[in-house]
Amino acid sequence: MTPFNKPFISSRELEYISRAVASGHISGNGVFTKKCQEFFEDKYGIGKALLTTSCTDALEMAAILSGVGPGDEVIVPSYTFVSTALAFIRQGATLVYADSLPDHPDIDPASIEKLVTPRTKVIVPVHYAGMACDMDAIMDIARRHGLIVIEDAAQAIESSYKGRPLGSIGHMAAFSFHETKNVIAGEGGLLAVNAPEFAERAEIIWEKGTDRSKFFRGEIDKYGWVDTGSSFLPSELTAAFLWAQLESIDLIQERRWTLWNRYRDNLEVLQREGLALLPRLPEGASGNAHIFYLLLPDLDTRTRLTQWLKDHGVMAVFHYLSLHKSKYALDHTSGNASPLLPNSDRYTDTLLRLPLFHELTETEIDRICGLILGFLRCDKAGAL
Ligand SMILES: *Cc1c(COP(=O)(O)O)cnc(C)c1O
Repeated sequence: MTPFNKPFISSRELEYISRAVASGHISGNGVFTKKCQEFFEDKYGIGKALLTTSCTDALEMAAILSGVGPGDEVIVPSYTFVSTALAFIRQGATLVYADSLPDHPDIDPASIEKLVTPRTKVIVPVHYAGMACDMDAIMDIARRHGLIVIEDAAQAIESSYKGRPLGSIGHMAAFSFHETKNVIAGEGGLLAVNAPEFAERAEIIWEKGTDRSKFFRGEIDKYGWVDTGSSFLPSELTAAFLWAQLESIDLIQERRWTLWNRYRDNLEVLQREGLALLPRLPEGASGNAHIFYLLLPDLDTRTRLTQWLKDHGVMAVFHYLSLHKSKYALDHTSGNASPLLPNSDRYTDTLLRLPLFHELTETEIDRICGLILGFLRCDKAGAL
C-alpha cells in the first residue's frame, strides 16, 4: 500500500530533544525556540517570528492582533482549510467568502475587490499548495482600502512571489509544521509579524498576556498581566524537533522537487490529451513542491479514479469542501443566501492530491502515473 503521506524524519530530532531534556529547560521560549525563530527571520526576511503550537494558533494570534470584532468583515477564500476562517469567527468577526481563480485554486483578487465594504478589516490570502497568490494585486487592494493582510502561509515555506519569500509580504503571516506539511514538528506553527506596529503586542499575547519576554530581556524589573493572550508557545521539545527539520530543509526540498517534477513529466500528456489539468504555477510564483494535484473533468471521474487507485494500493485524497457551503457557515449566515462561488466548488469536486513524501520512490511514481493514464484513457474511450 502506498500511503498518501509519510512524515520525513532526519536523523537528529531525537538527539536535539535529548539535548533539550538534558539542559533542564523544556518549557517554551528556550534555545531551540530562538534558533527556529531566527531561522525564519534571517532566511525569509520576516520582521518578528514567534513559534506557536499550530498554524491555527498563529492565525488566532493574528486575528487578535488585527483587532477585528463583531461588525467587522474578514475576506477569506472559500476553498481552504477550516483554520483560515476559525480564528476570525472566534473574535466575533463576519466572514465573507471569496472565489478562487478560474484556473487556479488561489483566491481571485477580482473576487476580493467586489466584496470590500466600509466594514472590511482584513484579507486572508491562502497560498494554496505553496503557490503564491497575486500579492501585488492583494496588497494594492489593501493599501487602497486601509486593510490588514494576513497570509495563510501554512503550506508556503521555502516559496516566493517575485523573489520575495511568502510569509514576509503581508502585515502578518502564519506557517504550519503539521505532519502533512514540508517541514514538520508533529503539531506546530509560527506567526510572522512583518508590520512593526504589531510586534510588541504579539509577544505579550504569545506569553499569556504578560510582558514576560521584556522581563527576560532585562527591559523591565518585574512582569505582570497587561493584555489578553493565551498559551500560544510550544515546548522546547517541539522546537528541538523542528530545529532538526529546519537543518534538513535543503534535503527535504530537493527530494520533493525531484518527485514533483517526475509527476509533472509523466502526466503532462494528460493535459495534451484533454484528460486532466496539472498544477499551474501562477505568474511570479516559485512553488515549493508541497502538493501535486490533478484537476479532473468532474466529481464522478474523480471518485472512480480515487477508487481505482485505492484498488491498486495507492492512497490519493481530495480536500476542502467549500467553506461557504459548510454546515457551520450556513448555520451562521444571517438571512443572506449562500454566495455563488463556482470556482471554489469546482476545486472541491475535481481536485485530487497524489502521494508525495520523502521516501516515495521514482519507480512507485511511475507506477502511479501509469495507473492514472491507463484509467483516464480507457475511461474516455468508454472501455471501463
Ligand atoms: C495545514 C493548514 C492549516 C492548519 O495548520 P495547523 O498547523 O494544523 O493548525 C491552516 N491553513 C492551511 C491552508 C493549511 O493547509
